[in-house]
Amino acid sequence: MKAPRVGNAQSALNAQRARELESRRQATIILQPHEVAGKLSPARMLTTTLGGRVRPITPADLAVFRKSVAQLGDRARQGITAKEALALSRPDDLERAKAQIRYSLPSRLQAGKVHLVTNSGPQSKVTRHHVNIEFAQYSAALSRPSTPLQAAQWLCKESPLRFECDCEHFRYFLRFVATAGGWVAGRAEHGLPKLTNPTLDGAACKHLARVLTDMQYSVGLRQRIAQMIDADRARIDRPGRTKPKIFLVPQADAERMLPQNVRRIAVKPQRASLPKPPSPADLTAAIAAYAGRNDASSRAIARALSALLSQSSARP
Ligand SMILES: [Zn+2]
Repeated sequence: MKAPRVGNAQSALNAQRARELESRRQATIILQPHEVAGKLSPARMLTTTLGGRVRPITPADLAVFRKSVAQLGDRARQGITAKEALALSRPDDLERAKAQIRYSLPSRLQAGKVHLVTNSGPQSKVTRHHVNIEFAQYSAALSRPSTPLQAAQWLCKESPLRFECDCEHFRYFLRFVATAGGWVAGRAEHGLPKLTNPTLDGAACKHLARVLTDMQYSVGLRQRIAQMIDADRARIDRPGRTKPKIFLVPQADAERMLPQNVRRIAVKPQRASLPKPPSPADLTAAIAAYAGRNDASSRAIARALSALLSQSSARP
């Protein structure tokens, strides 16, 4: 396997975007929001050829769509960290990334945005894929009292990102999810994908899984991001110069950033946010409700509630 070319990546992506937009305009495989809201035109809802077989889209599919969208809505915010995105991704996509996507190389950096290319999978029609990463908190990184390298490390490892990939998996599934979740870079997609198995899960495609892994640990990339931060901090001090500096990464430099061994794609379990403990007043009321009951389970519940109450009053 050979590292993909980083050269000419921007114009290749621009041309591809224009083509995608044109085909999106003519698309009948994307379900519009009003169609999901109960005004389905029978002609359009009949079939989809995606997924290799033709079958009608069912009301159950739509219920799944709606439920998924509602669930995502709760999580909606600006950006998602690399670790969170990996943790939200489907095991299938992570496995494919491990097996097939070995290279990610930065091609271009400007004003808190990084364009990277990856190699493509064995079934792919193209030789490389384009991934755009935007640091949602880039201006915070500029104003943070830290060295450019520290700020770059914070951006890569801890800060929320927005991202997109040009592959079909991202285009048909994940752009919609990313739009709903608030972490899409580039074009927002509000139309629901009309697919045979609309699970609407996952956050990173296999290419993004590779990029989001490498980005957290690549020292070479971190140095380039530090240069970008340095240039943009200098620009803030010189308001006359308005255009953010563009950093193009030559092929040889990009390949030098590749690690000796392909980085392991690993998901660290993200801390789930625990529900709020019950208030002491609620606990007291609950204990009162069980007071005087003499059966074994009521006594056990009362004991458990008292234990909770003493814990919660011991808490600072
Ligand atoms: Zn992709």
